[in-house]
Amino acid sequence: MLGSVVVGIGIAGCARMRDLLAPLPSSSAEKFSIKGFVSRRSLEDQQGVKQISMTEALSRDDIHVAFICTENTSHEEHIRQFLEAGKHVCVEYPVTLSYTSAVDLWSLAQQKGLVLHEEHIELLTPEFKQLKKDIAGKTLEEGTLRFTAGSLKPNFGFPSFSGISRLTWLVDLFGELTVTAASLVEEKENKYMKMTAHLLTQQQKPLTWIEERGPGLGRAKHIHLHFQDASITELPAGQREPVGLFMQDLVLFGRKLQGEVSAAELQEERSRILHCQQLADRIQQLSEHTQA
Ligand code: NAD
Repeated sequence: MLGSVVVGIGIAGCARMRDLLAPLPSSSAEKFSIKGFVSRRSLEDQQGVKQISMTEALSRDDIHVAFICTENTSHEEHIRQFLEAGKHVCVEYPVTLSYTSAVDLWSLAQQKGLVLHEEHIELLTPEFKQLKKDIAGKTLEEGTLRFTAGSLKPNFGFPSFSGISRLTWLVDLFGELTVTAASLVEEKENKYMKMTAHLLTQQQKPLTWIEERGPGLGRAKHIHLHFQDASITELPAGQREPVGLFMQDLVLFGRKLQGEVSAAELQEERSRILHCQQLADRIQQLSEHTQA
């Protein structure tokens, strides 16, 4: 059994605890056994699980795995601490808020012979799986992905990182991209911001990614994808699945820990993640330059 600790008891941390306590039967998720949770707040037992200190989580021999579910600005430090202490790490996206730190942490994990897994539940949603099927074999001419939601929470980083799941969609659907321009409009007093990134596919086809957040904006993804002989302007509903998204991710992490994911698959995933981190970095640089 893999003794586990959940760090950060927000929405994601509570979902992790729920799944660790009731893993999918006959799956790799059953290999985890929750030993406690870590929080900066002093909390009572959560879902019957006890709070432990960070020092205890890092030093206990019966804790082998950490789930990092804190706000994005603290991921890097937490991942490093747990890897240094010889623990495997599952971190909720984004892994960190820069490309270089992500590269650094993956090489640290490799040196230590540990698994560093970044959750990407957005790739597991029914609508994404269906969209991927629907566009298979089609030739893209141009496209836009616009995400809207309420104001961004503090400590979640630059929007190209906090919204990296949208960028991951584009890279997973259309392959490696380059950034041609990016800008950020921010109205701090109105808690409003809009980031626009212009991207090009390897076939030189334009993609636009917009993250727009502010009070009153509904959480939604709007797509306009134009192909040679078809257009998709609404996300398909997809087939609802009985296994929840965080549970699907837990099973994948468990399979990695059991050596059931091939080296080629791991390499492909790492390349996609680092490519997205690099694009997010570039978008941030260009946006900050435009703002200055
Ligand atoms: P959250 O705001 O619910 O929690 C973030 C952090 O704030 C946690 O460390 C939590 O312990 C702390 N926190 C929450 N309530 C608090 C309070 N009242 N006082 C003090 N601290 C408090 O955010 P989240 O949605 O759980 O996101 C955590 C991580 O998971 C982020 O990296 C995010 O990008 C990622 N993530 C979340 C989801 C999701 O569905 N929520 C999905 C994918 C990835």
